[in-house]
Amino acid sequence: MSQRVKIKALLQSQQTDIDVTVKGWVRAFRSNRFIALNDGSTNNNIQIVVDFENTDPALLKRITVGAALSVAGKLVASQGKGQNVEVIATDIEILGDSDPEKYPIQPKKHSLEFLRENAHLRFRTSTFGAIFRVRNSLAFAVHQFFQERGFVYLHTPVITASDAEGAGETFHVTNFDLDDIPKTDTGEIDFKQDFFGRPTNLTVSGQLEGELGAMALSDVYTFGPTFRAENSNTTRHLAEFWMIEPEVAFNSLDDNMDLAEEMLKYVIKYALDKNADDIEFLTERLAEEEKQKPQNERSEMTLLEKLQFCLTHDFERLTYTEAIEILKESPPNKKKKFQYPIEGWGTDLQSEHERYLVEKHFKKPVILTDYPKEIKAFYMRQNDDGKTVGAMDILFPGIGEIIGGSAREERLDKLEQRMDEMNIPKDELWWYLDTRRFGSCPHAGFGLGFERLVLFVTGMGNIRDVIPFPRFPKNAEF
Ligand code: ATP
Ligand code: MN
Repeated sequence: MSQRVKIKALLQSQQTDIDVTVKGWVRAFRSNRFIALNDGSTNNNIQIVVDFENTDPALLKRITVGAALSVAGKLVASQGKGQNVEVIATDIEILGDSDPEKYPIQPKKHSLEFLRENAHLRFRTSTFGAIFRVRNSLAFAVHQFFQERGFVYLHTPVITASDAEGAGETFHVTNFDLDDIPKTDTGEIDFKQDFFGRPTNLTVSGQLEGELGAMALSDVYTFGPTFRAENSNTTRHLAEFWMIEPEVAFNSLDDNMDLAEEMLKYVIKYALDKNADDIEFLTERLAEEEKQKPQNERSEMTLLEKLQFCLTHDFERLTYTEAIEILKESPPNKKKKFQYPIEGWGTDLQSEHERYLVEKHFKKPVILTDYPKEIKAFYMRQNDDGKTVGAMDILFPGIGEIIGGSAREERLDKLEQRMDEMNIPKDELWWYLDTRRFGSCPHAGFGLGFERLVLFVTGMGNIRDVIPFPRFPKNAEF
């Protein structure tokens, strides 16, 4: 038997009339004659032509949707429509039977909800095959982007004792017997007896440790899992998600914006080049989905157009204060259409506001800067006006916030003062403050939520569909 060839390579083969072996899973079997076989190397199936008159009927019966096959045969130019080449089978081996009665993934359209409940098998659909190949390319492109620029990939800890943002939405890490938690004399949990001798949690961000690396290696990035126990059942939040966090010594807020914009464009372009077939498939999928919507809610651009638009246009940059002015005067605000009306300066923007700016007002990605210090984290660099900090959020159409970042407060006195004001324990973060004591310097960084990026590039509507096994409230299946 000849060596196995992946279906992607077969479909691109310039040679025909050669002996080949393909392995994969049956997507469909028509007329006891045509097998659509897929091995995940591409969204396209190879057609296997079965000589049913000379094939054992018992074997034919076992060629069912979902079964794993090894097929030896001849690659020939296809007579039929829809493919250039096909394989005339000479030898079919069933590697793994399926059960057509019970196999959940039938050759028909399944709802995304149904497939989420069958996440262990959803990779075998065209949609999820495309999504996870695109996700893979985006991850690789992130590394390539930073590596080309001399960044050091830093592995920051998953278990930490600090709650970086002070948001408090963390998962505890303990090895206590939960039925018998040691207490102190005063009745409090005795963390001294816990594994780490102190309260610990899963990280919500690698930034603080990333900054420590940047203060010696200059340019670093993290790319790892982060965890948030926020009870937000939205289409944009997960309890476990992947974050990319570059941190760059000597960078200003402007440099930070340039880096973020350049990175987003680079990785989107990479996926467009590398996954043209998948993105074409996802573009058609989205177009079908859009047809279900009322005319006035349909997107003006296809997925492919949206991605190309993003590459060829500068992101709009404006301050929070300017954005508030636009929002105050906006038709939905005046007509009281916002759930959270914009009354004045100082309130946090809700996703309805972010999406108005991006989708209706500017119609392109937007970078908002210089937010009120009250609504941002303690480490953001304080501006001279005494009211705002050097923050930057990048907002994307259909997504809202995709990146949150800032210039970091490098001045020890200013940082300590802000920590006091916000009740951030300075003694616990002594190591962070040390960077400001010994050779501090201006620096900046940001966090990109990887799944939000994958959402944008795949045109999917729910973040639970762009990570293999989503974690969200009341769900940790698989
Ligand atoms: P949001 O306001 O959307 O909850 P955030 O302000 O909490 O976001 P940051 O703490 O700045 O977000 O985190 C950096 C990035 O991580 C965000 O821009 C977003 O892309 C992503 N992100 C944040 N929370 C989640 C989550 N629960 N699930 C997936 N991605 C997230
Ligand atoms: Mn949040």
